[in-house]
Amino acid sequence: MQTTTRVAVIGGGVVGASVLYHLTKLGWSDVMLLERSELTSGSTWHAAGGFHTLNGDTNMAALQGYTIRLYKELEEITGLSCGLHHVGGVTLADNRDRFDMMLAERAKHRFMGLETEIVTPEEIAKIAPVTNIEGIIGGLYDPLDGHLDPSGTTHAYAKAARMGGAAIETHCMVRETNQRPDGTWDVVTDKGTIHAEHVVNAGGLWAREVGAMAGVYFPLHPMEHQYIVTDDIPEIYERDHEHPHVMDPAGESYLRQEGRGLCIGFYEQPCRPWAVDGTPWDFGHELLPDDFDKIEASIDFAYKRFPVLATAGVKSVIHGPFTFAPDGNPLVGPVPGMRNYWSACGVMAGFSQGGGVGLTLAQWMIEGEPERDVMALDVARFGNWISPGYTRPKVIENYQKRFSVSYPNEELPAGRPNRTTPMYDIFTAMGAVWGQQYGLEVVNYFAQGDEPTYETPSFRRSDAFEATAREVRGVREGVGINEVQNFGKYSVTGPGARDWLDRIMAGRVPQPGRLSLTPMLSPKGRLIGDFTISCLGETEFQLTASYGAQAFHSRWFEKNAADGVRVENISDRRTGFQIAGPKARAVLAACTREDVSGMKFLDVRRMVVGMTDCIVQRVSYTGDLGFEIYCDPMAQRQLWSTLWAAGAAHGMVPFGMRAMMSLRLDKYFGSWMSEFSPDYTAAETGLDRFISFSKNADFIGRAAAEAERVAGPSRRLVAFEVEAEDADVHGYEPIWLGGEVAGFCTSGGFAHHSGKSIALGFLPSDRVAEAPAVEIEILGQMRPARVLPEPPFDADGARMRG
Ligand SMILES: Cc1cc2nc3c(=O)[nH]c(=O)nc-3n(C[C@H](O)[C@H](O)[C@H](O)COP(=O)(O)OP(=O)(O)OC[C@H]3O[C@@H](n4cnc5c(N)ncnc54)[C@H](O)[C@@H]3O)c2cc1C
Repeated sequence: MQTTTRVAVIGGGVVGASVLYHLTKLGWSDVMLLERSELTSGSTWHAAGGFHTLNGDTNMAALQGYTIRLYKELEEITGLSCGLHHVGGVTLADNRDRFDMMLAERAKHRFMGLETEIVTPEEIAKIAPVTNIEGIIGGLYDPLDGHLDPSGTTHAYAKAARMGGAAIETHCMVRETNQRPDGTWDVVTDKGTIHAEHVVNAGGLWAREVGAMAGVYFPLHPMEHQYIVTDDIPEIYERDHEHPHVMDPAGESYLRQEGRGLCIGFYEQPCRPWAVDGTPWDFGHELLPDDFDKIEASIDFAYKRFPVLATAGVKSVIHGPFTFAPDGNPLVGPVPGMRNYWSACGVMAGFSQGGGVGLTLAQWMIEGEPERDVMALDVARFGNWISPGYTRPKVIENYQKRFSVSYPNEELPAGRPNRTTPMYDIFTAMGAVWGQQYGLEVVNYFAQGDEPTYETPSFRRSDAFEATAREVRGVREGVGINEVQNFGKYSVTGPGARDWLDRIMAGRVPQPGRLSLTPMLSPKGRLIGDFTISCLGETEFQLTASYGAQAFHSRWFEKNAADGVRVENISDRRTGFQIAGPKARAVLAACTREDVSGMKFLDVRRMVVGMTDCIVQRVSYTGDLGFEIYCDPMAQRQLWSTLWAAGAAHGMVPFGMRAMMSLRLDKYFGSWMSEFSPDYTAAETGLDRFISFSKNADFIGRAAAEAERVAGPSRRLVAFEVEAEDADVHGYEPIWLGGEVAGFCTSGGFAHHSGKSIALGFLPSDRVAEAPAVEIEILGQMRPARVLPEPPFDADGARMRG
């Protein structure tokens, strides 16, 4: 066995094998895979092998599309068969919401190049004749759906990797991973120690245990899962071609042909987590005992949907465990807080996602960043607040909701409330309807009178519409207050702070007492943050950005650490409120002895507000006259009492995130992960106006940004007013121009103050001029929309800056 390698991939399931192959494909041949038994010895060998592109997250759907298209390439390279059956598949809809979701998915697929189609019940009966279409209102057909041979596919990845120079060591159990001071690793196995520059955890069912060897907790949990293979069924074997897959979300089942019979698996509600206290090392090529009780209700339902099953005998039952992360997406990428330690685990659909996971990780390791926004699967989307006690209920919830409709405004209940601020009880008593962000409870809106205390999930305008309108009115006509807890906050201090910021941020670093807004760019010029920099002193700065990106941003700051500067994540150590609206200044003035009338837009000052030492900055995401007031969490309730009491004279209203997101639309303010994400560049989104090309600093991404400045971006973010009825844009709806899909929306909604349904979206730069009028497809309907060059509220900034 070789004793040094550039990369040691731990785990020879489909995911580890894919990572190994992609590393060689992208040019690293000195790589090695370590497998404690034979390849496929975890979840992989007993998988049903199904694959599909459908995924509520657009980037995940693209990743799944890549994986599926890869199999032919693998077969060609290796000469091995993946046992591909590209039979197509149909997902059934038995209610309006599910059908709405399919319409929205189909619309997204148009610009993703996926050929899915909406089909009628009659067409379903023809495509998938074992289906009882009673109660079905339609379906989504995907010609790419199919299944394969899990073992053959894993071995094909492995052979392709070997052909690229990789080594594979089976029967080689990793027992320890010990980091040397230089950041490289000693990987201790029962066949000896391997010195590796990088370690990849692809331990699948044992990823938690492998992580623990390096002191890392991976938020994932194994769940038991069961599928049944039937005896021969005449309606199947008498067909002249293979029966397609049928996903029946109402019955939480997936069905496909297996040999001369059928195979059906279930995501049952009475599901069970497996190996709560850790996966036993001696769990090998074995299955769990059959458990028909657990799936009894699912089977009864399946007999009605697929009547041929009722008389078919059972040939075999496969009952095994596989892992999920709390949101069901993989955990991929550089592990925050670690050097040269990479994650490729939590992959619950290895045959739909394994290829894309391998490609993403290989790009990240070799090229420094993946080619697209991978936030949905980035291991950094969970912070260090996450624990096994939170992961388990979330994973159970995710399993149970595997086939549920996922709504854009849905707040999932498991594991909540988890993290709360001192305001939680006060806001709850005021009618707060809570959402969750990065484990934190955040107010969506405050229900007053007979407004709903639960926002019904919907693709259309929700029943929080009126409450949101009321809060928006309160801000624009008077003054509103909400918490600033859900901003990511960082303290940057030290003699090297300014130079460091000049290198990390593309924008201007402000002078003491001032703020600046700035994009943060990757080396390739992609947007990896939109920040506010507050200069509190020549060597003291506060940064604010998205709360949900804390681990993502901290990881980047650590990677780019420099001498003479200290960067701390203080997101939960500094909290406070923002007050916004024409009367905001009067409220603040009533709470402090400072003269706030002289505070200009983008000023920042330390001041005592009531009894509390605060950092006050004049800026507001609502686009109105506004102030953000930061304090120590221990003083937050006191600060609240002061502001709330002063606000009474001005009719101050509390407002939540629903109103905030409506208010920002009046001004076309983009938001992180909608308009501003690593999929886009500063010039595409208009954030290039905050880049300081004149500053004397070689900021990260400068060369790429300059090149784009010369060439011009190929697409541009544009704002539209949509003739919507009861459904607004949420994101990824196609924009039609001249009878073809020319772009897609990034976000949108109803701007209550201007009374307009607003959409933000990309069009090719050379087509913006011809686009005064476009159509945006919302839930399958073409909605006329027109470009709005000027924001409908405060276009000249008089109110915000005044
Ligand atoms: C019943 C069932 C049906 C399924 N059906 C489908 C399906 O239809 N489609 C689909 O896409 N997915 C399906 N899955 C899920 C799929 O099996 C998993 O997504 C996939 O197998 C995960 O692969 P992996 O490589 O991440 O992990 P694993 O397959 O668990 O592989 C991990 C490997 O790491 C090795 N390892 C762990 N620790 C060490 C160590 N210390 N040293 C050396 N080696 C180590 C293990 O021996 C193992 O071989 C199904 C799962 C089950 C249980």
